[in-house]
Parts: sequence; structure tokens; C-alpha cells
Amino acid sequence: MKAEIIAVGSELLTPHRLDTNSLFLTGELNRLGIEVQRKHVVGDNPDHLRDAFRGALERVNLVIAIGGLGPTADDLTRETVAELLGRALHRDEAILLWIEERFRRLGRAMPDINVRQAMVPEGATVLDNKRGTAPGLWLENDSRIVVLLPGPPAELEPMFTNTVVPKLEGLGGGVKLHSRQLRVAGLGESDVEQRVSSIYRSYSNTQTTILAGPGEVELHLRIWTDDATAAGRQLDEMVERFKLALDDHIFTTQGEALEEVVARELIAHGATICVAESATGGLVAQRLTRIAGSSTYFLGGVVCYSNTLKSAWVDVPAELIETRGAVSAEVTRALAEGIRRRSGATLGLAVTGIAGPGGATAEKPVGTVYLALANPKGVTERALRFPGDRERVRWQAAQAALDLVRRYFLYARRHGA
Ligand code: ATP
Ligand code: MG
Repeated sequence: MKAEIIAVGSELLTPHRLDTNSLFLTGELNRLGIEVQRKHVVGDNPDHLRDAFRGALERVNLVIAIGGLGPTADDLTRETVAELLGRALHRDEAILLWIEERFRRLGRAMPDINVRQAMVPEGATVLDNKRGTAPGLWLENDSRIVVLLPGPPAELEPMFTNTVVPKLEGLGGGVKLHSRQLRVAGLGESDVEQRVSSIYRSYSNTQTTILAGPGEVELHLRIWTDDATAAGRQLDEMVERFKLALDDHIFTTQGEALEEVVARELIAHGATICVAESATGGLVAQRLTRIAGSSTYFLGGVVCYSNTLKSAWVDVPAELIETRGAVSAEVTRALAEGIRRRSGATLGLAVTGIAGPGGATAEKPVGTVYLALANPKGVTERALRFPGDRERVRWQAAQAALDLVRRYFLYARRHGA
């Protein structure tokens, strides 16, 4: 079964609102074995809405519209769809009573305009809305299904889960989506593509997408089939081949964020960590503490932006900062060792860099980043250069810092530590 989603609302065509409901719906539909083939965003305009519906109904057997079920004049979905399908609208007294009752409970009289929300196209099934006034609607027309849902996510999500999912279950016809999500750090998008393209091209039944983000690349593998065993076997085989091609750059095959992988490693090794951050201003600490239970491994950290505090708080010799510069391999190493010694953590992690737009020199352009990880046996270091603006440089620096910790455990395990 194939679906199209139509998000309705002029606000979704402005820079201020994004259609996020369709992301939720797509995830849920995929779980049911229904593939979303197109999505539309349409303003509150009956002609545009009619066009979108007409086209969708020609192509697929499930059309889901979001929004435009409210009481105001710009909410047109109900009327437009009824007209397009040639269904008369009648007033449903039970819905009207229910809406009136809802207003009464809130201590208000129902405004006259809300009567529109009790209008139901002939032959439609009404979908309960426990969180708002507009009920959803389910219509069947020439073996096509049309579902109209309210716009607010807090209303749409429970309505879809409780009333639409049970009706759609089984309609996928046994075909389901099987997928894997690999995430890669320390390699660019084109490097990844070069290493894996010959692998995924040999699986014509699989949709492979390479998605570049700051500091990482994601690989999504998707197979639609009714043969779960074969799909599982093939996906496992593909993942194994990707692992060979990408080596230790893959940090997860389960879709986890890098900080989650690092947290898991720290816990598995009974290790603790403390950070000294300059360029990232606490971003590494923020990401490590985003995860519930982080107190087991995260002792704390300092944001030592000024030279004075690098010395006062983390014991970096003032003379080292003067001769090498605050953004340098030597100072970063001293920060990592200093924070480790001061905190008593297993690992001391330090980041310095030039995030820009100012502060660059000829030898140290914007994007220059130094990382150091002090561990019980020594220090591992990186000197890196990242493209992009301030935000991107900071994010990539934090990503590379976390990746340094991940790799430390990877090599420790490989070398039997
Ligand atoms: P209401 O009865 O609340 O008016 P409605 O069905 O008419 O419901 P809309 O008026 O279209 O829905 O949207 C109400 C609010 O829901 C919007 O202001 C917006 O914040 C949110 N919303 C609408 N569509 C979407 C969407 N596709 N993704 C995320 N949020 C949405
Ligand atoms: Mg509305």
C-alpha cells in the first residue's frame, strides 16, 4: 500500500512553521508496511488543496491530510474534500453535543463558528479527538482511503495511534519496511560514498541513502518486502561489508548518537571522565550529560576561555600559553593532563580551537582545532581543521572530541587492555 500526505496551512509556507506531523506519520506508516511516496505542503487555498488531493487520489490508495479542520474561515479541508468526493455535509448532532459539552467543562459557551466542526461528509467515519474540538474523519471512495487529521501534534498523534492505526493494520499486505542505520565519524560524505558505492549498488532491492551532517555521515538501508528472514539476512550481510569498507569509522549500527556510544563505553569500562573546554564552551559536557544516568561516568568539567583561568583552574603554565599560544597542541595537552590530575577522573578531555569569525592567524586559520585525551598510560592528540561557520566548527570539534574517546576504548579493546 502506498500513501501521500498533504499538510494544510498557510503558516507552513512561511519561515516560521515546519510540517513536522508528516515525520511522525511517515514513521508510523512505515511500521505498518505503508510507503509514503509524496508529501505536499499546501496553503489555506481551496484550489491548491483540491489539486493536491486530486493528484494524490490518482496515484495512491491512502491519502492523509493534516490540519485545516478548525472552526475558522481559513480551515477548508473538510468542505474541499467533501466537494471533491461528491459527498454532502450533514450536521452530526452527537459531535455537536460533545463540542458543546467540552466548552461547558471549560466554563465557556460554544462560539457559533464551532458548529462547522460538527459537519460530517456523508458516509464518513468520525475519529474521536480527546485533546481538542475537531474530530478526525475517515472516508473510503472507490477503494481509496482518505483520512483527515487535526493539525496540532498533541491532537494528531494520539488520534492516529488510537483510531487510525487499528484501521490500517493488516492493509499493508504483509509487506514491511526493514532497515538499518549506520553512523560514521571522521570521514566526509564523498569518502564514504567512494568506499561503499560498489557495495550498495550490488543490492538493487535496497534503498541506500547517504546523509551528511556536521561531523558525521549517516547511511540508511531500507528494504520493503514480505520476507522478513531474507531481509534480515541481507541487511546483516550489507552491514558486515560496510564495516569492512569503513572500518572503525562506523560508530553505531543501531542509530545511536555518538555521545550515547561513548557513555556506553565509559560505563562498560567503569571509567570516569572530566573535560576542559575552551572553543566548545561546554558543548562536550552538555552532550555527555544529555544522557540519563550520566553521573556514573561524568565527573564534571570547566569552561576555561581566558588564559588566566587555563592556568588558575587547570594548571597550564602561563609561559606555555605565551610561547605556544592558547590554541596549540601543547596547551591542549596540558589542559587534558591538568583536568585529569585535578579531578582524579580516568580520562581528561580537552578542546581548544578557533571557531571564528575572528582570531585567526596565518598558521592557525578559522576552523583549527586541537584535542587531547589524557588517559592512565599517556595522552592521545589530534590537530584538525574544520570548514564552516562558528556553530559548525564548534559542533564538529565536540563531535571529534567524543570520537577521540570512542577510539581510545576501541584500541584499548583491540590491544587487550
Ligand atoms: P484547530 O482546531 O486547532 O484549528 P486544525 O485542524 O484547524 O486545528 P490547523 O489550524 O491547521 O489545525 O493547525 C493548528 C496548529 O497545529 C498550527 O498552528 C500548527 O502549530 C500546528 N500544525 C498544523 N499543521 C502542522 C504540521 N503539519 N506539522 C506540525 N504542526 C502543525
Ligand atoms: Mg485551525
